[in-house]
Amino acid sequence: MQRTPIIAGNWKMHKTIQEARDFVRAVRSFLPGGKVETVICAPFTALAALVEELHNYPAAIGAQNVHWEESGAYTGEISPGMLVEIGVKYVIIGHSERREYFAETDETVNRKAKAAFAHGLLPIVCVGENLEQRESGKTKELVRDQVIRAVEGLSSEQAKQLVIAYEPVWAIGTGKSSSAEDAQEVIAFIRSMVEDAFDSQVASQVRIQYGGSVKPDNIMAYLEQPDIDGALVGGASLAPDSFLQLVEAVR
Ligand code: PEP
Repeated sequence: MQRTPIIAGNWKMHKTIQEARDFVRAVRSFLPGGKVETVICAPFTALAALVEELHNYPAAIGAQNVHWEESGAYTGEISPGMLVEIGVKYVIIGHSERREYFAETDETVNRKAKAAFAHGLLPIVCVGENLEQRESGKTKELVRDQVIRAVEGLSSEQAKQLVIAYEPVWAIGTGKSSSAEDAQEVIAFIRSMVEDAFDSQVASQVRIQYGGSVKPDNIMAYLEQPDIDGALVGGASLAPDSFLQLVEAVR
């Protein structure tokens, strides 16, 4: 099964609307289409401007969070329908920063993933172990739980369109990346978990990215691994030059 690699930038809480416009005006005519899918996950306030700026260019826009309800008394939240209405295609769910600082749990990740699919929004579900879990040999156990609980109740058709980002927490924003071989091992394991939860067809289609201090000078090693289908990138996605180099690394 040929899977199209997906390079997604996670801007976190960076860039005003004007900064976001300036960024995409600098990169959009250089974006390769076809062999790589390019996604920019921006703060809510910049999403509509980015959709407008990238109209007719080969890049999709993603949000960094979503609520599971369609509407209601949820002050401060944004629903899947609201994101779809402005042209957002992807949404990051369960990023470790949301798990750590905003009480995201496996249960809310699952609710959000189901709600996203119900509205035609594609989830990028983040999983990954922290340093203590890694050092005590619990990486696979932890990641297995996160994956199984995230996909509970999804149909096979939905699961095929899912993107999973394996992001060891200790590698996010630290400059310490997982070796490509270690990332491959965990990602192959995640693919086998998806096969157990669904079937081999779903497992061969689901895209699984690596994330954690990916930069233009190390991305190739990840892309060469058979089970790694691209990267979710924070810091190195913020500057136009390095973002383009990441996208262009897909051959
Ligand atoms: C992230 O924010 O998902 C991430 C992987 O960040 P960084 O690339 O900066 O480690």
